[in-house]
Amino acid sequence: MNRAEIVVDVAAIRHNVRRLRAAVGGARMMTVVKSDGYGHGLGPVARAARAGGADWLGVATIDEALALRATGDAGPVLCWLGVPGEEYAAAIERDIDVTAYSLDELAEVTKGARAAGRQARLQLKVDTGLSRGGAMQADWTELVRAARAAEQDGDVAVTGIWSHFACSDEPAHPANDAQEAAFRSALEIAHTAGLRPSVRHLSNSAAALLRPSARFDLVRCGIASYGLDPAPGHTPAVLPGLGLIPAMTVRAALAMVKRLPAGGSVSYGHTWTADRPTTLGLVPAGYGDGILRHASGRAEVWVDGRRRPIRGRVCMDQFVVDLDSDLPAAGSRVVLFGAGADGEPTAQDWAEACGTISYEIVTRVGGRMRRIHVDSEAEEHRA
Ligand SMILES: *Cc1c(COP(=O)(O)O)cnc(C)c1O
Repeated sequence: MNRAEIVVDVAAIRHNVRRLRAAVGGARMMTVVKSDGYGHGLGPVARAARAGGADWLGVATIDEALALRATGDAGPVLCWLGVPGEEYAAAIERDIDVTAYSLDELAEVTKGARAAGRQARLQLKVDTGLSRGGAMQADWTELVRAARAAEQDGDVAVTGIWSHFACSDEPAHPANDAQEAAFRSALEIAHTAGLRPSVRHLSNSAAALLRPSARFDLVRCGIASYGLDPAPGHTPAVLPGLGLIPAMTVRAALAMVKRLPAGGSVSYGHTWTADRPTTLGLVPAGYGDGILRHASGRAEVWVDGRRRPIRGRVCMDQFVVDLDSDLPAAGSRVVLFGAGADGEPTAQDWAEACGTISYEIVTRVGGRMRRIHVDSEAEEHRA
């Protein structure tokens, strides 16, 4: 086995997308594959998602959308984060749906369509209260009217209208009702302006599962597609029945195992001191591989059928775990996190230990680690 590696089971992603698609009833499914498929690998994730029934794929940037086309994906793709001077023509030539937040962006998309010599597939984003991207509600009427005019000029086809929740992982938060209501009124304004988009969408994973009223034509599922809980603490009624499977396992070979006498202190700063003799295992991965330094003294790993605490600080290339009275051989496998089926920690466990969300754990891990893709269903067929 490699020093440290990320193993992604594409069968888990296929399964999760299939389950999610079934769970959202008649709504279509966009699998969000931005940031290298949440760290799982853009091309393999995209293929697995399509095989699981993803009607759409979603990415943040035009670069990501072009990279997705370069993997061979030819289906509907939406991207949503541009800057002035963006290469819209390249995206338009490849049938990528682009998003406009403003009149300036609409003008750039129109210019891109003329340069490409074809109509742009355009979606409009309204800010319903996240106060991130999207048109402010005060500017919405003007934007939809201008988009309708561009449509009548033949430069664009408005294919979608969308927005994004701020608090969908807290289902009782009053912002959810307010945003859904704002979205409905933005849709009415667009309809009055003459727009007839084929997809209206508002929900990410948490809202797709917890807020059926907000599914509209399409839901945009990222984190749940990778098998991780989109709203920890709020999903006991839906997640167990769905049977999502975390697709990523991060594992390594113990570089060294040795005994430490009582009173010995571990790693930079000596933040942990043994109060009894114990065994230390050296894990050859660190923050240079995307292991959060916040895991120092907090997260646990899995060795020989037990969870083992990290002792002392996570370094750039390595960290140390406490193996208690056990003495596994150097080279023994250590699982940092995985699906959790055998009791090993999950990305969610690491997120809680590090004071963050599972999204950050899976997206940041990488660095010098090898990443391999397996298909557990295909292996079962072969066996
Ligand atoms: C990242 C993202 C999503 C996916 O969110 P999840 O919580 O991972 O399901 C959906 N929509 C937009 C606009 C996003 O940026």
